[in-house]
Amino acid sequence: MTQGIGASSGIAIGKSFVLPNWEFEVPEQRIDVADFAREFERVYEGIRTSKDEINQIKDELKETVGEEETQIFDAHLAILDDPVFMNEIQGIIQRQYKAAEVAVKEAIDHFVTMFDLLEDDYMRERALDIKDVGNRLLKHLLGVPEIQLPSDTQPFILVAKEISPSQLAHLNPENVLGIVTLSGSTSSHSAIMARALGIPLVVGMEGKIAESLVTGQTILIDGSDGTVHLDPAEHLIKRYRDMQYKLIMAQEQLHHLADHEAVTTDGQFIKLAANISSVKELEIALKGGAQDVGLFRTEFLYMDRQEFPTEEEQFLVYRKVVEKLHGGSVVIRTLDIGGDKHLDYYDMEEEENPFMGYRAIRVSLDQKQLFKTQLRAILRASTYGTIKLMYPFITSVNEVRAANALLEEAKDELMQEGIAFDAHLAVGIMIEVPAAVMIANHLAKEVDFFSIGTNDLVQFTLAVDRMNERIADLYDPYHPAVIQMLSFVVEAAKRNEIPISVCGELAGDIRALPIWLSLGVDSLSMSAHSILPLKERLIHSSQLECKQVFNEVSLSVTSEEIKVILTEYMDVFEETANG
Ligand code: PEP
Ligand code: MG
Repeated sequence: MTQGIGASSGIAIGKSFVLPNWEFEVPEQRIDVADFAREFERVYEGIRTSKDEINQIKDELKETVGEEETQIFDAHLAILDDPVFMNEIQGIIQRQYKAAEVAVKEAIDHFVTMFDLLEDDYMRERALDIKDVGNRLLKHLLGVPEIQLPSDTQPFILVAKEISPSQLAHLNPENVLGIVTLSGSTSSHSAIMARALGIPLVVGMEGKIAESLVTGQTILIDGSDGTVHLDPAEHLIKRYRDMQYKLIMAQEQLHHLADHEAVTTDGQFIKLAANISSVKELEIALKGGAQDVGLFRTEFLYMDRQEFPTEEEQFLVYRKVVEKLHGGSVVIRTLDIGGDKHLDYYDMEEEENPFMGYRAIRVSLDQKQLFKTQLRAILRASTYGTIKLMYPFITSVNEVRAANALLEEAKDELMQEGIAFDAHLAVGIMIEVPAAVMIANHLAKEVDFFSIGTNDLVQFTLAVDRMNERIADLYDPYHPAVIQMLSFVVEAAKRNEIPISVCGELAGDIRALPIWLSLGVDSLSMSAHSILPLKERLIHSSQLECKQVFNEVSLSVTSEEIKVILTEYMDVFEETANG
């Protein structure tokens, strides 16, 4: 057994197909001044063909994995259009009298080395993009045919040094049981695509599997924990087949709950919704039984591209999301960049404390046009279904008023242009900063609903940076201070008769369910895969019992005590359920 890094979960057992290195041998060739124009034309022609090919891949991908996944290829197109890339190639041809393919190869090597040296993981992944698109261009200049994969009827496990998004896009997901790569990371574009396609992926096997591995060897991989077995024994195959079967059965078993109302034994109803950041994620959520979206993190629409999305582009995405919900509702949260979320085309200054810096609503209120573009897109989509608007990171009443004033401006503009929108669009805010909790009573008078963002609320209440691994054990959602904050804000919402939901990670934690049932929150929004397990627990719970449990929780002075109470309740529940 060898251990890599699990980058896309799932078990795969099958024959390997070892992908030959996609590295081209480019023979050194000198040219004359008289050949410059011809060589430039060859490069232009190669770029045109590469762009056509990429656009074709994009179209195919739109059908299979959704529009978001195609953005990787927008990055490739942008590299081919980048004058810096072209200047480097032309410079090598003119100054060093080298043929087009040699100049392209040297330009790729130059930029890849430059990006590889950077500390930042994201920038290093850009090196892979340059290599990928550069190799496509080289392939055309050299007239090399596409790599032939096994015939369509034979599913295989792909083994490669690294796998580029282009290569992944060429694969038929139905025939690829799994993928193993020597290099790679869990945050690479390829890993993101493998997850979207549901293909198990193990990365980081450099030096761990024999270089001599050949096509046709039996291989077993577990993409959840990164385990890889070469030529596994029969008993091992059987064990993993059983695991595979159990995983599928566990998911299937809960599936009958998809249409079951989320109501307790004593009649308390809670809406269970999904958190999404793309249309593809929505599709997966819908398949998993979600009917509503409680948090659409829109910042991901702004990432992985070269410029801000236009009003039209955003409108089409928001409309698609609400239409796909067929009557369900979606809470669209306005842009929350800053913190750990950057846009490479937008120059944001380095900050000492980015999570407490220029982010979210602060950026929107400062970059008014940017904000209004998003508001207009959301308003325009609001006639296609039930959309609710939500502002992130609110700390004062003034911010809400300023954001609402811009919303009114956007509405006036649309009205003058004769464009329809939902005049009664509900407007809510995230409660994710202690200041917002403390003035919840004032804020509730300005908005239509609250949604508690426990992820940020925990870090700011406890002064624990959610990204700092050294103090990760201090990041404790069950700290009594957090529990008090939750009670306080729910009470303020109830006093002012506005709905309240929770959309941080704690919403999907089964152990926390008695807190929400006891407080009486209206909805919980979470990762789609948590919805059915949580619903199963909820429909067997009673609010009365949860109130008793929460009474004990409220009297506890340490998080250890709180966790013991909630865990014991969970265990009793398990025992009763198992007979
Ligand atoms: C939160 O802070 O709980 C939240 C849902 O927002 P994000 O995780 O996007 O910051
Ligand atoms: Mg947040």
